[in-house]
Amino acid sequence: MKPVIALVGRPNVGKSTLFNRMTKSRDAIVADFAGLTRDRHYGDGRLGEHDFIVIDTGGFEPDSSTGIVKEMAKQTRQAVAEADAVVFVVDVRAGLSAQDHDIARYLRTVNKHVILAANKAEGMKDAPQLAEFFELGMGEPMAVSAAHGQGVRSLIETALEPFVFDEPDEDVSDEERALVVRLAVAGRPNVGKSTLINTWLGEERLVAFDMPGTTRDAISVPFERNGQRFELIDTAGLRRKGKVFEAIEKFSVVKTLQAIAESNVVVLLLDATQGVTDQDAHIAGYILDNGRAVVLAVNKWDAVDDYQRQMLQRSIEQRLAFLKFAPILHISALKRQGLGPLWKAISEAHASAFKKMSTPVLTRLVHEAVEFQAPKRAGMFRPKLRYAHQGGMNPPIIVIHGNSLEHVTDAYKRFLEGRFREHFKLVGTPLRVEMRSSR
Ligand code: GDP
Ligand code: GDP
Repeated sequence: MKPVIALVGRPNVGKSTLFNRMTKSRDAIVADFAGLTRDRHYGDGRLGEHDFIVIDTGGFEPDSSTGIVKEMAKQTRQAVAEADAVVFVVDVRAGLSAQDHDIARYLRTVNKHVILAANKAEGMKDAPQLAEFFELGMGEPMAVSAAHGQGVRSLIETALEPFVFDEPDEDVSDEERALVVRLAVAGRPNVGKSTLINTWLGEERLVAFDMPGTTRDAISVPFERNGQRFELIDTAGLRRKGKVFEAIEKFSVVKTLQAIAESNVVVLLLDATQGVTDQDAHIAGYILDNGRAVVLAVNKWDAVDDYQRQMLQRSIEQRLAFLKFAPILHISALKRQGLGPLWKAISEAHASAFKKMSTPVLTRLVHEAVEFQAPKRAGMFRPKLRYAHQGGMNPPIIVIHGNSLEHVTDAYKRFLEGRFREHFKLVGTPLRVEMRSSR
């Protein structure tokens, strides 16, 4: 599971600036989850080989003075609860404040890995100003400058230190990964995730088996169904009650993001009574960024009339156009309708994500495509597509070799992608087509 770093500190110390620096993005990946996380932003970061998630607790609403403290405390507590490591940000230029002491007092009670970051310390190495922060009892302050990027790398290294060594499954081969469908059910609060999972886990045909070695903090439920092995990765509150697992409703952005990253197939659950919302599109975008196979399951199909069904179809086509490759299933988790086809779609998406494509077949398909329609000449360059090989799985990557391939247009790449998809019957998985010119 990706480790999670929470940025905590009073307003204006530079948390958002640090967040942007750590995530290398201006945009938080998941903003405003149904109002639940209005004041917390989540971003993906990477240091060397290591992926991590950052939570910023930046913008609370300063309504009244008691309101500030209350809201900040709440945001801070929630972010800290979700985090593995906490970066406590203070402002060297402003100096130590009473609020810093309050936060420190609280952080001492939470039993997490806390790193004190003294921000705005550009040009202040070993400055006497740093010394007063020892008073917080949080160890040695690390001088950083979020605005200038100084010290940020070693800050991240220190924060991640206890977590990067238990990276699971680093060298599991594609073949091994292809054996088990690692399944995540993602969706907004109330779309019916718990209901679906409980319905699944209560199925007679599903045989739970013990599989040791689940990752830190993660609950996953291994089971077998019609000879296919699955591992259901927790996105919310999967709890073990004796030998039985039960999903309890508790939405967690972090768990959702981690589970998507850990899975190879995601069921994105939509609520037929609500249509496609911004949050649905956010999650969908994250699934696509991670290259995961995806099945769209429109839940609560029992509760909508024909008109709503048509509107819904249209809103999926418009708002989730970038998931055109994903099959759309209509289900009722509550009434146990449509679940057979859903299992079938999951299996097909998984098989597509791990499809093996041989070099001779790929090369033949490329030549046939070119014969059918050659790529356009760009000035004096005519792209020459010579051969293709498979560069990866989940998502499948097809690498095409040749000359002047940088002039192949996006439209032509989509044309090729369509031909590959058709030939290999790829459904439910993104497909990446990459061009590699030899000169
Ligand atoms: P937040 O409220 O804690 O999220 O703080 P912001 O990231 O919004 O930063 C507050 C102010 O501090 C902004 O004006 C930033 O430009 C400034 N700031 C942030 N990091 C640094 C830094 O490393 N050095 C200096 N000099 N200013 C910074
Ligand atoms: P979660 O927050 O995504 O885990 O959603 P829950 O599983 O807790 O479901 C939220 C609400 O939707 C509950 O009241 C469920 O009974 C209801 N619900 C779930 N699935 C269905 C369904 O297929 N049809 C209908 N009509 N209601 C459903």
